[in-house]
Amino acid sequence: MALVSSLEILSDAQKGGYAIGAFNVENMEMAEATIMAADEMKAPVILQTTPSTVRYASLELYCANVKAIADQVKIPVVMHLDHGSSFELCARAFRAGYTSIMIDGSHLPLEENIALTKRVVDMCMPAGIPVEGEIGRVGGKEDDTVCENAGYTIPAEAIRFEAETGLSSMAVGVGTAHGVYKTTPVLNTALVSELRNMLTVPMVLHGASGLSDEAVRECIRRGICKVNFATELRIAYSDGIKEVLREAPETFDPKAYGKIAREKVKELVKNRIRVCGCDGKA
Ligand SMILES: [Zn+2]
Repeated sequence: MALVSSLEILSDAQKGGYAIGAFNVENMEMAEATIMAADEMKAPVILQTTPSTVRYASLELYCANVKAIADQVKIPVVMHLDHGSSFELCARAFRAGYTSIMIDGSHLPLEENIALTKRVVDMCMPAGIPVEGEIGRVGGKEDDTVCENAGYTIPAEAIRFEAETGLSSMAVGVGTAHGVYKTTPVLNTALVSELRNMLTVPMVLHGASGLSDEAVRECIRRGICKVNFATELRIAYSDGIKEVLREAPETFDPKAYGKIAREKVKELVKNRIRVCGCDGKA
């Protein structure tokens, strides 16, 4: 079916007490693997690309790719801009056909984050395109930005952020980090519950690659409705290629290792969909 906005599937997730898996894809094979996994699990799914990904190819190419794959299945598929870094990039994604957009102003002072996020909301919402904002930084390296210490979201600021921007979903800082964890992160799950009680919009958990299944489930039980997985998809994909080339170094057909890499990503995505509890919800 045609691409859908993330509005309805996130609101269903919020009502149903489960989360939608959002998966960062870098190429056609990863997009196919993700959509095919979701289709087999009958799960609504979000595919997303970061600014560095859309510099590698282009917004138009990723969007057309995902659209073509989504057309072959019956589950709802969302094309989301992850960590939109400027108003201009969000506008380009909007024009390219993305059905969900994140603007990340979490590195800015609160007033500026509110102003920037509101500007994107004012552009997108009249056309029915939902906007994710972020407040309280997720640690680690996401794309081009590095954040040394994970910042926990301050509830009073989150309330203001929601009220003054009119955003559709909110990425919150509760102790997760992007990339590969070197030590076990200290998640403030009580903060998830506290924020859930104060906010209306669905909350998003970034940096879930490498968290235990139980930690992710606990965050979902406490009110997270969208969980982002990026790093571990890249690892699964690369592992597939390495495996083939190690066993048969003479391989020169990209299809030969692409097929295996795609399988690895597909297995991982199915796994994560189960953890999110969104299987059978499409
Ligand atoms: Zn993120």
